[in-house]
Amino acid sequence: MRRKFVAGNWKMNGSLAGNEALLAAVAAGAASVSQVECAVCVPFPYLAQAQKVLAGSTVGLGAQTLSEHAQGAYTGEVSASMIKDFGCRYVIVGHSERRALYGESNAAVAAKFVAALNAGLIPLLCVGETLEEREAGVTGKVVTEQLDAAIQAAGVAAFSKAVIAYEPVWAIGTGRTASPAQAQEVHALIRARVAESDASVAAGVQILYGGSMKPNNAAELMGQPDIDGGLIGGAALVADDFLAIVRAGA
Ligand code: PEP
Repeated sequence: MRRKFVAGNWKMNGSLAGNEALLAAVAAGAASVSQVECAVCVPFPYLAQAQKVLAGSTVGLGAQTLSEHAQGAYTGEVSASMIKDFGCRYVIVGHSERRALYGESNAAVAAKFVAALNAGLIPLLCVGETLEEREAGVTGKVVTEQLDAAIQAAGVAAFSKAVIAYEPVWAIGTGRTASPAQAQEVHALIRARVAESDASVAAGVQILYGGSMKPNNAAELMGQPDIDGGLIGGAALVADDFLAIVRAGA
C-alpha cells in the first residue's frame, strides 16, 4: 500500500523573517496527520532555518535542485552532500521551470537524479508536457522520454528510492488544474512504463500530481488510483491551504 505524500515547493519565495511562522504552523498541523508523508522544499539559503524549525517534527525537508557534480570548480552550484548536510531527505529534480528557464535537458536531469541518489537523497523527479505538446497529442511520448532518461541513467531499481511528480506545465501556477481523469490517465501511463522494467517497483513508487492543486480539488485528485499525493507550489506558501491539502490525503 503506497502512502500518500504531499510536498511543498516554495520556489523562489520566502524570507528569514516570514519563514518561521509558516514552518512552525506546517510542523504543528502535520503532526496530527501522521498517515500522510509531508515535506517542504525551500530555497537553499533557508535550509538551515528550516532544519532548525522542523527539527523533531514529522515534516521532511528538501531542496529544489542540485548540481550533477559531487564537488569542485562549479561556481554557484550546490552539491547533493551539501544539501544532505542540512538534514534534507528530498530534492526536486527536473522541475519544468528548471527545464524551460535554465535549459535542463532530459540528460542533465537524469545526471542530477543520479547525483541525488548517490548521496542518499530521495529525488522527486518532475515530468510533464507543455500545452502545445498536449494539443499535439504527444503527452505520452514526452513524459515517457523524460522518465526513460532517468531509468536508463539510474536503473529501474532506483525508483524504489525515488518519487515521480507528474506536473503538466500548462497547469503549474496557472490556476488551471488537470481534471482527475486527465491526471489519472498520465499517472497510469507512468506506472505502466516503470512496470515494463519492474512490476514490483512500479507498484510501490509514489507518483505525485502537481499543477494548481488546492484545498478544493486535492481530495478528488488524490482519490484517483494512481495519484499518490501532490507537489504543491502556490498553496504551499499558505499554511492553512497546505495543511488542508495534507489532510485531503488522509
Ligand atoms: C509546482 O511548482 O511544482 C507547482 C505545482 O506549482 P502550483 O501548485 O503553484 O501550480
